[in-house]
Amino acid sequence: MITSAQLKALIEALSATVAAHAAELTDLDSAIGDGDHGANMKRGFDAVAGEADAISAKPEAEALKAIGTKLVMTVGGASGPLYGTLFLTLGKELTVSPDDYPAALRRAVDAVAARGKSAYGQKTMLDVLYPVAEAVEANKSKAEIVAVAHDAVAATRDRKAIRGRASFLGDRSIGHIDPGARSSALLVEAVAGVL
Ligand code: ADP
Ligand code: MG
Repeated sequence: MITSAQLKALIEALSATVAAHAAELTDLDSAIGDGDHGANMKRGFDAVAGEADAISAKPEAEALKAIGTKLVMTVGGASGPLYGTLFLTLGKELTVSPDDYPAALRRAVDAVAARGKSAYGQKTMLDVLYPVAEAVEANKSKAEIVAVAHDAVAATRDRKAIRGRASFLGDRSIGHIDPGARSSALLVEAVAGVL
């Protein structure tokens, strides 16, 4: 069970890392998308941080659902509903099976894939989220999980985008890191830093 203090620290860590890397995310999205991923993420996580006290006062599962709802309302773009689905599903799964984090994460990533009609290997955030879910299931250490996330980001460079705006570029998407993969790794690193 995550405590209220941990939840608050988590929200602050997530918004801090997104703010610190907003320009980088925007640059990545400018190369193969429309250059709004940094602004989208910052808007969303700033909005979550603005309600950090109210959200962290809720039980863990409800807090995760509240974060998901806020992200759906504020991030926009393709990534908003997808990150919203990730947090909403984490909250729903933890309501049903408290403390089963590996199963909740696996189901949440599957829910993102269903929502995005996407799969692993298509140069999206899923290229990070699936390896991370697997590492969590395998009970890897936090440092290993963070390393898995960063390696997974790097691996998106050589892939061709099959989903999202970058897919419009076809082969020209090859040679660039996927912005959503990078933001996912940043979120994973922030979570690992707090829990
Ligand atoms: P938009 O593409 O609408 O401008 P963002 O720039 O905020 O939205 O987010 C782009 C990121 O969203 C991509 O880098 C990719 O990781 C992710 N993404 C886009 N479409 C999908 C999808 N169908 N499934 C999974 N992830 C996706
Ligand atoms: Mg974009």
